[in-house]
Amino acid sequence: MTMRRVAILGSTGSIGTTALRVLSRQRERFCVSALTAFSNAALLREQEVEFRPAFVGLVNNGASEHAAWESGRSCLIAAATRDDVDIVLNAVVGAAGLDATLAALECGKRVALANKETLVMAGHLVHAARARGGGELVPVDSEHSAILQCITGRTGVEVRRVILTASGGPFRQWSSEKIERATLTDALQHPTWRMGRKITVDSATLANKALEVIEAHHLFGLSFDQIDVVVHPQSVIHSFVEFVDGSVLAQLGVPSMELPVLYALTHPERVPDTGVPPFDPVESSPMTFERVRVADFPALALGVAAGRRGGAAPAVFNAANEEAVSLFIDGRIRFGDIPGAIESALEALGEWNGDSRDAILAADEAARRHVRTRFQC
Ligand code: NDP
Ligand code: MG
Repeated sequence: MTMRRVAILGSTGSIGTTALRVLSRQRERFCVSALTAFSNAALLREQEVEFRPAFVGLVNNGASEHAAWESGRSCLIAAATRDDVDIVLNAVVGAAGLDATLAALECGKRVALANKETLVMAGHLVHAARARGGGELVPVDSEHSAILQCITGRTGVEVRRVILTASGGPFRQWSSEKIERATLTDALQHPTWRMGRKITVDSATLANKALEVIEAHHLFGLSFDQIDVVVHPQSVIHSFVEFVDGSVLAQLGVPSMELPVLYALTHPERVPDTGVPPFDPVESSPMTFERVRVADFPALALGVAAGRRGGAAPAVFNAANEEAVSLFIDGRIRFGDIPGAIESALEALGEWNGDSRDAILAADEAARRHVRTRFQC
């Protein structure tokens, strides 16, 4: 494999730091050309000293909200479109990653996509940018990495269905009354994964699984009827693919993002010396499965319905969720208010048009405003 040059957007986050750990063991295959962070200047500086990238960008430069948005956007795009970058790992959280994904694909780069919100809000724009620029989109999300690993080398028509696994989050066995009143500390106690706060809260509401269903729809060209979800509390099986003949493949591994991140960089190749411990089926036992408690985790069905509806609805779902999670993290709404905030935004704005980038960003902004004005106490 020739030396590949990587830009990491969001290098100071959970996925970003995991990626740098992975890359530090793969220095003969990869070098780091660009790093960006939002606010963590100290960690970014440490990373700069260790990896010596040609470009380092701190997005939040303390400017006004609008100026910061604009300069943040240009900083991410600048990192994502450099000539000395082959692969852009988009590990930014939330809709802020959209323009960088589009720009990198337009420039023909491989985008290793952790930033699923981007694909959910604007899947058709992402596909159009890829088609125009000749870029490549490879998932980082463990479930989608599992599916990609199971289908690589096969044709899409052979796939009958995929089954995404979900840990069930910290409230898997809680009563619905108790879930309503869950605190931030409760929501951040994820049983199997250590991740950034936003996705950890999304895993507790199961909004994350809704985002992942829409993500699978766009990545693999599957209809929503071909995507199921099953709860698998141990998070060892990362997803299943059922083929037309009834055969089912799955990809297994300890719950760590190191392998999915590395695979997104090397796909379709595999590399040795990953530091991943050998798989021990006995240590991983028992592996159990449960139906999703759909009525107690309404964010999942709301998100899937938004995905089916199309237009701006997935962008509204995503933005309302981002805003509600941020209000919950700030202690301004209850955990149980999050699905209601999403539902209300979808009722008000779900019919909006999502044809263009501007239409999607307008729906995104309207959904955030809707949630802020109606649900802030
Ligand atoms: P974190 O919150 O840990 O990290 C987010 C990163 O993005 C940080 O580097 C942060 O900078 C930066 N950032 C935050 N806001 C902005 C912004 N407005 N503009 C530019 N950069 C910004 O998140 P995670 O690493 O957990 O998640 C990143 C993405 O990956 C999400 O989309 C998530 O859904 C997805 N993902 C994460 C998994 C995980 O295991 N963590 C698994 C699968 C998917 P700073 O720290 O300097 O403020
Ligand atoms: Mg996932």
